Amino acid sequence: MAGVVVVGAGMGGLAAAARLAALGHRVTVVEQGDTHGGKLGTLHRDGYTFDTGPSLLTMPQVYRDLFAATGAPLDTVVDVVPVDPVCHYRFADGTEVGLPHAEEDVPAALAAAFGERSAAQWRRVMADAAHLWGLVGESVLQRPLGGLGDLVRRSANPRDLAAIAPWRTLRALGRARFDDPRLRVLLDRYATYSGSDPRRIPAVLSVVPYVEQHFGGWYVRGGLRVLGDALADRCRELGVRLRFNAPVVGIDATSAGVSGVRLGDGERIAADVVVSDVDAEVLYRDLLPARSARRPRRALRRAVPSLSGFVLLLALRGRTPGPRHHHRVLFPADYDAEFDAIFGRAPRPVPDPAVYICSPDDPAVAPEGDEAWFVLVNAPRQGPVDWRAPGLADDYADRVLRVLADRGLDVRDRVRWREVRTPADWERDTGSVGGSIYGTSSNGPRAALLRPRNRGPVPGLFLVGGSAHPGGGLPLVAMSAAIVAGLIGPA
Ligand SMILES: Cc1cc2nc3c(=O)[nH]c(=O)nc-3n(C[C@H](O)[C@H](O)[C@H](O)COP(=O)(O)OP(=O)(O)OC[C@H]3O[C@@H](n4cnc5c(N)ncnc54)[C@H](O)[C@@H]3O)c2cc1C
Repeated sequence: MAGVVVVGAGMGGLAAAARLAALGHRVTVVEQGDTHGGKLGTLHRDGYTFDTGPSLLTMPQVYRDLFAATGAPLDTVVDVVPVDPVCHYRFADGTEVGLPHAEEDVPAALAAAFGERSAAQWRRVMADAAHLWGLVGESVLQRPLGGLGDLVRRSANPRDLAAIAPWRTLRALGRARFDDPRLRVLLDRYATYSGSDPRRIPAVLSVVPYVEQHFGGWYVRGGLRVLGDALADRCRELGVRLRFNAPVVGIDATSAGVSGVRLGDGERIAADVVVSDVDAEVLYRDLLPARSARRPRRALRRAVPSLSGFVLLLALRGRTPGPRHHHRVLFPADYDAEFDAIFGRAPRPVPDPAVYICSPDDPAVAPEGDEAWFVLVNAPRQGPVDWRAPGLADDYADRVLRVLADRGLDVRDRVRWREVRTPADWERDTGSVGGSIYGTSSNGPRAALLRPRNRGPVPGLFLVGGSAHPGGGLPLVAMSAAIVAGLIGPA
C-alpha cells in the first residue's frame, strides 16, 4: 500500500490524518508552509502571544470525540475553559449586553438589556432553532452530502422541510420575529460566522446562535493555537509523517483513481488515497487534471465566496478600565452598509465596521498588567480589493482604531506595537482564494448544496476543511475529517 497523503496541515487536514492513522493507515501530511495549523496561526513577540485566526471555540465535543478516537482524551492534553459571558455586545445607541455562557441565563441578560418582551421573542426563536438543530445537526453536518434529493429524503416529513424553509433568509426571520432592531442586528451577526450576508443566507442558519448558546463558548488556555499544537502532536504520536515547506503543485489522477501528488521541487509521492485540505477552488482549478474537475468547478462558479477578515494585533500597555471582556463586539449604526461594502458591486474596506475584540484574561498571552488584543473586522476578499496597495493596510488599521475610540474604547496611546493581517496575507499564507475565511459562503438557498462534497470526483480523492462540506470554523472542519475517515474506513 502506498498509503494516504493529506495535502495541507490545517485543522481539517490534521484531524483527518489523526483519524486515518488511528484506523491503521500510513499517513503523510504535506504542508506548503513551515508550520501546522493553517488559519489557526499564532504570533509570539515581546512577551505577547496572539491567536492570529480563530479566537472562539464552539462545540468542543467535536474535538473531544476526535481526541478520544485517536488516543488520550482532549482534557488530558489541553485546558479547555468556558468563556463567560461568551461575548459582550455594544450597540450603536450605547446599549450593552453580555450573553452568558449558560444557556438558561441568556433570557435574563436579554431581558435586562432589551426588556422581557424581547427576551421572550429571542427564547422562542432559539426554541425553533433547537428543533432545526435536531433536523440538520446530525443528519446534514455529520454525514456526507448527497444533493437536494438526499436532503429531502433525510427530512422526516414535509413539516420538517417547511421548518428548514431554505428560501427564507435570516434577515427575514429577524424581521418577522423581533420587534427590537437591536435583536435583529444580533441575529444578523451570526451570518458572518459562515462568512455570509444575513440578507441572503437561509434562516436555518439560526442554528448558529443556538449552537453557541446551547454548547457554550470556550477558550483554550495559552491560546487556541495550543489546540493545533496538541493535534499535531497527536498525529506524530500516531506515526503520521508531517512534511513542511512542501507545496503540492499537482495531484496525479485518472478516471481510475488517484496515484500520487507532485511537489514544487519535482518530487512525487505515491498515494492510494489523497485527502485535500486545500481550498477546493484551488484544488479543482490548479491541482487536479482539468477533465476530472469539470463538474465540481461548475458548482463552485455558482457559489458566492465567503468574506475575509482584516486583523489588527495590538500589544497594549496597561489594563483597560472597567469590566474585563474576553470577547466583545461593537456594532455600527448602519450594519447593512458593512454587507454592501463586502458583497456589493464595488467591494471596498468597510468604512464603519462592526469591530470584534478578543482580549483573553490569561497570564500566558501578555506581560503582567498588559493586554494582547486581537481585533477583527469583516473585509472584502483580496482581488476585488487590492490589500497590498501601498498604505492601505496601515491607513485602515488607523481607521479601525478611530472607530474603536468613537465607540468608547480609545487605546491609541497604549499601543506598544501593532501588526496587521489582511485578506492578501490569508491568501498567501493559507492558500484560500482571495483570503476567504470559510470557502464558499452560505449566501443563497442552494449554497449548502453547491459546497464541494467530501468525496472527490475521482476514486481515492477526498476533501476536508472549511471549503468542503459541512463548512468552515473549527468544529465543522473536524466534522469534515470524521466524515472523510468514515468514507475511507479502516486500512
Ligand atoms: C481571522 C480568522 C478568524 C477566525 N475565527 C474563528 C473562530 O473564532 N472560531 C472558529 O471556529 N473558526 C474561526 N475561523 C475559521 C477557522 O480558522 C477555519 O475554518 C479553520 O481553521 C480552517 O481549517 P482548514 O483545515 O479548513 O484550512 P486551513 O487552516 O486554511 O489550512 C489549509 C492548509 O493547507 C495548506 N495548503 C494550501 N495549499 C497547499 C498546497 N498546494 N500544498 C500544501 N499545502 C497547502 C495551507 O498552507 C494551510 O496550512 C477564523 C478564521 C480566520 C482567518
